[in-house]
Amino acid sequence: MILSLKEYITQITSEPGEVSIEEFLLKSTERFPGKVTFSTSFSYEDQVITHKILTNNFPISIFTLDTGRLFPETYSVWSATNEKYNTHIQAYTPDHSLLENFVSERGPNSFYESVQNRKDCCYIRKVDPLKRALKNNAMWITGLRAEHSIDRHDMPQVEWDEGNQIIKYHPLLHWTFDAVKEYINENNIPYNPLHDKGFVSIGCAPCTRAIRPGEDFRAGRWWWEDSVKKECGLHVNVVD
Ligand code: SF4
Repeated sequence: MILSLKEYITQITSEPGEVSIEEFLLKSTERFPGKVTFSTSFSYEDQVITHKILTNNFPISIFTLDTGRLFPETYSVWSATNEKYNTHIQAYTPDHSLLENFVSERGPNSFYESVQNRKDCCYIRKVDPLKRALKNNAMWITGLRAEHSIDRHDMPQVEWDEGNQIIKYHPLLHWTFDAVKEYINENNIPYNPLHDKGFVSIGCAPCTRAIRPGEDFRAGRWWWEDSVKKECGLHVNVVD
């Protein structure tokens, strides 16, 4: 019997905590051959998932959104990752004509001037490329963790993303920061050195800053805006 995607979610929702991440990934690739994809920003969490995918040779595509405004450290860890795993992480970049018009008309740093400019910039540099990356896939794996934000505490590990019409799986949702760091160290995985300087999630350089211990990670993004407006469209209601 062929299950619909929503039926499949219902069937497997109870499973992620009962099977290992590796088993769950394997089952997903068997259920959706060639249609499971993982988005990495080369964060601590994403590096753990990349390691699991590539050392197990799971047939899962890995891509990143190269906004053109990332930190030099992010490009360095991207290169180091390609080298360590003998791979080439797929890059999705902004549509060049959209970006040319946007930057020409509003200036290179217009995101500081209004929420609308910031949202338009995020749409062109992140949301639109993401839609292209997810197209024709059935499952999207992310590195979201519940500890990052209060919004994520009740998030299911497997969920249906209505906007992108895709199943989302968050394998590290319930991992602690210490568990992630330990896994990185034990497996000698390359990581972004900005994590050692107080950066929790690392996005575009002009829009990300370090936070103090205990601060919500939203404090590290778009700090000049009201906190209720901080959302870029990658994950509804959360910053990424
Ligand atoms: Fe633009 Fe900042 Fe959004 Fe990056 S995070 S796409 S630079 S507004």
